[in-house]
Amino acid sequence: MIEIKEMPNNDIMILSPVSDFTDSMGYCEFRIKHFLKGMKAPQTKVTIEGTESHDKEVEYEREHFTFVPISQDELEDIDKDIELARERVYTRFLTKMKYGNKNLSILIFGQADKILRSKGTLVVEESKFPDNTQKYLGKFEPYEDQTLQTLLYLNSRFSENGSLDPKEWFKIPHKEKMWIVNIKDKKTSKSVIIFKGIQTNKTKKFLKAKIEKFALVVLGNSKPEHHKNIRKCLKCRFLDSCQYKIC
Ligand code: SF4
Repeated sequence: MIEIKEMPNNDIMILSPVSDFTDSMGYCEFRIKHFLKGMKAPQTKVTIEGTESHDKEVEYEREHFTFVPISQDELEDIDKDIELARERVYTRFLTKMKYGNKNLSILIFGQADKILRSKGTLVVEESKFPDNTQKYLGKFEPYEDQTLQTLLYLNSRFSENGSLDPKEWFKIPHKEKMWIVNIKDKKTSKSVIIFKGIQTNKTKKFLKAKIEKFALVVLGNSKPEHHKNIRKCLKCRFLDSCQYKIC
């Protein structure tokens, strides 16, 4: 659910789960209206199977890998390769902007699949288990919601206990940032195609523009833009209850 909070000093804060942000700004901006009302898209066979494959992967890692706790010195040593234990990788993306004469904070919180530092590069990897992997074979880049998700994680602080208090978050020092979207077969968990890239000024601007538009739509200061794509509406889990659909 996306929430707007009026702070005691008159400033404003928007809180959103990563999934609500990426589902809106990477698929359909009209979903913001649904998430503001607390609506949840119903689960489908595809989403349930995707979650099950994901859970199986988590279980496999739990059984086959041991993550040793990382000391503060190791965290700060940029030359030390580290990987955070999956179930303790909470991400906290916080940014601020001016909104009229008020300060607006936007906090987007989530939980990443994999965060590690290798040879000084901060790497975020997300596994996806789509129903149809064939649709990815002719693609050279992931879908926009997937790109947004990894970019958000790459530019977040991290929390091991899920706290929303910035004092409890930590950074992972690094020289550059890399995102990976790993498309896997949901039955075998084997990779079908892997998209990867380094964060550039262009991707930073892309993320910033999406955050700003998101904030303005959430606050009712900008209209959501319709994708005008009937197929998107037909595939949308909000289809039955959405008054903005075009089919
Ligand atoms: S049904 Fe169409 S307009 Fe409505 S939220 Fe889904 S994609 Fe957007």
